[in-house]
Amino acid sequence: MKVRAQIGMVLNLDKCIGCHTCSVTCKNVWTNRKGVEYAWFNNVETKPGVGYPKDWENQKRWNGGWVRKKNGKIEPRMGAKWRILSKIFANPDLPEIDDYYEPFDFDYAHLQTAPEMKAFPTARPRSQITGERMEKIEWGPNWEEILGGEFAKRKADYNFAGVEAEIYGQFENTFMMYLPRLCEHCLNPACVAACPSGAIYKREEDGIVLIDQDKCRGWRMCVSACPYKKIYYNWESGKSEKCTFCFPRIEVGQPTVCSETCVGRIRYLGVLLYDADRIEAAAAEPDEKDLYQAQLDVFLDPFDPAVIDQARRDGVPDAWLEAARRSPVYKMAIDWKVAFPLHPEYRTLPMVWYVPPLSPIQSAASAGALEMDGEMPDVKSLRIPVQYLANLLTAGNEPPVVQALERMLAMRGFMRAKTVDGRIDHKIA
Ligand code: SF4
Ligand code: SF4
Repeated sequence: MKVRAQIGMVLNLDKCIGCHTCSVTCKNVWTNRKGVEYAWFNNVETKPGVGYPKDWENQKRWNGGWVRKKNGKIEPRMGAKWRILSKIFANPDLPEIDDYYEPFDFDYAHLQTAPEMKAFPTARPRSQITGERMEKIEWGPNWEEILGGEFAKRKADYNFAGVEAEIYGQFENTFMMYLPRLCEHCLNPACVAACPSGAIYKREEDGIVLIDQDKCRGWRMCVSACPYKKIYYNWESGKSEKCTFCFPRIEVGQPTVCSETCVGRIRYLGVLLYDADRIEAAAAEPDEKDLYQAQLDVFLDPFDPAVIDQARRDGVPDAWLEAARRSPVYKMAIDWKVAFPLHPEYRTLPMVWYVPPLSPIQSAASAGALEMDGEMPDVKSLRIPVQYLANLLTAGNEPPVVQALERMLAMRGFMRAKTVDGRIDHKIA
């Protein structure tokens, strides 16, 4: 056993209101610079939808992530030969600017300088990169929300993480949810494995994944390899950049900017203890549906004296052990099992966990669609199909998601029973 500490985040999707405050405050702090105008270290997607960059979940298109070989070994999807070839030729598996979007500002001067016309002048969009007026804006992060039904019409083009496409496009079956995304600071990061310059590293003390800007040579293998497409190429500096988990703030005991400014208070930060010796086996789990459980098996009980002793021998400071015992991430992800990793089938062991949204299915639950006796609900009777959530969070394994939804429903019922005149009465058992 080799004990390591990892900082992680839980996002309660039940509470996300899609306000994008997290994205904007992150942008103001980290990517408000020339070269990374299009980059959003944190973005909020409306799901189901193509996401940002477009089609990021389509791993075959980008050649990214890890694959399990017939001999049981897992390897970055890009083999060594491919990597050498792509040093000579251009890396072919990169998203292009149209997969992100061309960033724009509004040309407010147009309100005053527009020639006289019958209609009121409007602020025109102007490209942040070229400075040119843009006749129309084709695409942007979270476009689905803006376009509303448009994506349903073009549903055949989109990747819905394996759910039957026909059920979308029927008005009565439409649903949406918000999915805030950031770098997962994976335990088994594909970006680190893919970098030919050894510029990307995972910090020993807290597991934050960073890019050494002095070592980066701009190969962009990390951009292809990251299955979450959370590395961005800075066209001004010629180097890659990514979410830093706000490490300068974490080091002085402050939360990340996205967590501090989150309007819905959906983000929880905490420490997990894991056994570094178990990572390879977990990532190589042969059955995709067991990958979620395999990921859970990597983590250690911070209340177990044997774990604490070993952690001390492995150099984990007492303050981090205390943080692991008080960690909401441990509680929600490992102990209560109501928070799940995003796409564990990518085999990178992601460290941002999601509580699946419950609110949209409340009416179905009240109507008895979500059985409380452990029976599987009828997927089509729920607002957000359990199958869709399972494809997003547990590699298609539905029972853990159903169990989490049932737990949350039970907790909601319990807290409502204790609520008198809008206040929770803690004296009621
Ligand atoms: Fe690397 Fe982050 Fe992508 Fe994981 S999510 S592979 S840590 S860039
Ligand atoms: Fe959701 Fe919080 Fe971001 Fe608003 S600030 S979009 S509530 S995660």
